[in-house]
Amino acid sequence: MTRAHKPVFAQLYTKTIADLIDKHGADSAVGRQYLYDPAEEERRGFEMVDPIGDDAHSPCKGIVHRHKNRVLLKLTASCAVNCRFCFRKELLSRPDETLKQDEIEQALDYIQSKPQISEVILTGGDPLVLSPRRLKPVMQRLFDNKNLRNIRIHTRTPVADPARIHGAMIDALFLSAPQMMPLYIVLHINHVDEITDEFAALCLTLRQKGAILMSQSVLLKGINDNVPALQALFEAFVGLGIKPYYLHHPDLVPGTDHFRITFEHGQALMKALHGRLSGFALPSYVLDIPGGFSKVPVNADYIQRKGDIYLITDPAGGVHEYPARIAGVAVKAA
Ligand SMILES: *Cc1c(COP(=O)(O)O)cnc(C)c1O
Ligand code: SF4
Repeated sequence: MTRAHKPVFAQLYTKTIADLIDKHGADSAVGRQYLYDPAEEERRGFEMVDPIGDDAHSPCKGIVHRHKNRVLLKLTASCAVNCRFCFRKELLSRPDETLKQDEIEQALDYIQSKPQISEVILTGGDPLVLSPRRLKPVMQRLFDNKNLRNIRIHTRTPVADPARIHGAMIDALFLSAPQMMPLYIVLHINHVDEITDEFAALCLTLRQKGAILMSQSVLLKGINDNVPALQALFEAFVGLGIKPYYLHHPDLVPGTDHFRITFEHGQALMKALHGRLSGFALPSYVLDIPGGFSKVPVNADYIQRKGDIYLITDPAGGVHEYPARIAGVAVKAA
């Protein structure tokens, strides 16, 4: 364990979040996501400043192009809040990483120049902290790009500052003419206590506008690493018209050891949730392999090969046999 040399990651949250912290307390699931904890000063040797390897796949400023068909477009390094476990903590501490107008043009030109790119994912930082005036021309250029099949936005602003998403911002996101190209909005929420009436109303507005809502949550020790918390969260998503998409295993961010859990614990939670939730209410439990080697599912392992058969474990723990020889094809043992 070593001491941090960097300045501490600034504490930053909105009025909405401040009210929630007042209501639930500093030591609540909401409070602990946003309030500085001295445990952040504890560093582990395996932690990394770029835990998901963004820098390894950046052909130009603001773009991360790891998969052939889709790119991340990081317009800004800012967020409405600073989550203590943030996987882009280092980026958020560098305001110069927010793209200038000519850099935005270059990033959009890069996207346009690659016909194989069919999806653009706006992330950051949080794209929705930008002004509608800056966002609208970007959305216009993306909607006009005939190579794209869809646009996706990853954001925490609807949770942290729902009042921000109205009027001109809604116009910027959906433009004026009806668009054929679907807009997927992936909402970052980790606990039901973050869901306010304003957020729920905003979900309805976004759905009425035609957005497809999905969720991403981070599995965090002491915040949501138990069955009741996750079950309540995913059921709440379904009730708001949000398809649970990803549950992220925490990344190896410096100073986040106190949030970390084991894979076994995460897998056991997924297994327990499996029987309790509708199939589509269960997100995929994923890990971003450190170094930028992509996301992989770390869902519970239900199938094991044993000689000429497979052994399948059901959600209640029962084990069942399944033939390893299908339509005359013998599956070779590994
Ligand atoms: C997470 C990520 C994506 C999006 O992955 P999906 O599995 O499609 O959600 C795309 N590019 C990079 C570099 C990513 O880290
Ligand atoms: S919303 Fe995402 S990018 Fe922003 S501080 Fe939280 S984890 Fe980091």
